[in-house]
Amino acid sequence: MPIKCGNCSNRHFSVTSVRMCYQYGGVLPCDWLIDTRRYTEDGEPIIVACGADAWTTDRGWRCAAGHEHVSAEVRDREGWDYVTEDEAEGFARNTGRVPVLMNGHPWVP
Ligand SMILES: [Zn+2]
Ligand SMILES: [Zn+2]
Repeated sequence: MPIKCGNCSNRHFSVTSVRMCYQYGGVLPCDWLIDTRRYTEDGEPIIVACGADAWTTDRGWRCAAGHEHVSAEVRDREGWDYVTEDEAEGFARNTGRVPVLMNGHPWVP
């Protein structure tokens, strides 16, 4: 049941999100893409955006469903970046930085 938020006047899904909204100055819908592991009649995979309440942290943002996104600035400072599985090997070779897959796990050759 959505709750009307007194801070941003949008609706959030939980009291925790309202608290986070006050604390961090805003709550956004999480745009993390999730593979539903279901398929359309044509056999195309169905991918949906998470949509849970997400709030900014000192490293990026995280959402109520547990997704954590680290901002580009922090990734650069820490010497790693998000890549797809196809890009990982070339990224490691060309940049000397650590490739981390979209699921948050470092890529292992
Ligand atoms: Zn709010
Ligand atoms: Zn999420």
